[in-house]
Amino acid sequence: MATNRTFTMLKPDSIEKGNIGPILDKINAAGFKIVAMKMTHMTRRDAEAFYAVHNERPFFGELVEYMTRGPIVAAILEKENAVEDFRTLIGATNPADAAEGTIRKLYAASIGENAVHGSDSDENAAIEGAFHFSGRELF
Ligand code: UDP
Ligand code: MG
Repeated sequence: MATNRTFTMLKPDSIEKGNIGPILDKINAAGFKIVAMKMTHMTRRDAEAFYAVHNERPFFGELVEYMTRGPIVAAILEKENAVEDFRTLIGATNPADAAEGTIRKLYAASIGENAVHGSDSDENAAIEGAFHFSGRELF
């Protein structure tokens, strides 16, 4: 995957609250092009693998419960400087610390249930995109 791409998930709370449309509007308005997208339900095994880097952290069990309790929307987004610009658009991990107008400030409930995922590096964007999408699902 090229370095002008990032990977996102609209997490289960966003789907439960009916926020898919509003969040996609923000992503669109910020100039990201959607090059892959699907609704999917992660299994426990999926979530444990996706978040393996956090498996020693105290919140790991809750994170896996949260991410598997309902469907998510996964997407690969394209834009110049995609990884950094998307992290700016979503805001800080804890919505209490997130800047005004960011997706997490607008739609996240807490540091755990924080509405969206955004890759933190080009390398992880490629790994995470490949976790959810095959080459023929990329447009
Ligand atoms: N998380 C949590 N408690 C914390 C930190 C993180 O429940 O104290 C959850 C939260 O859903 C977060 C995810 O674990 O989005 C991954 O954490 P990370 O530090 O990578 O934050 P992100 O990159 O999503 O901002
Ligand atoms: Mg992270």
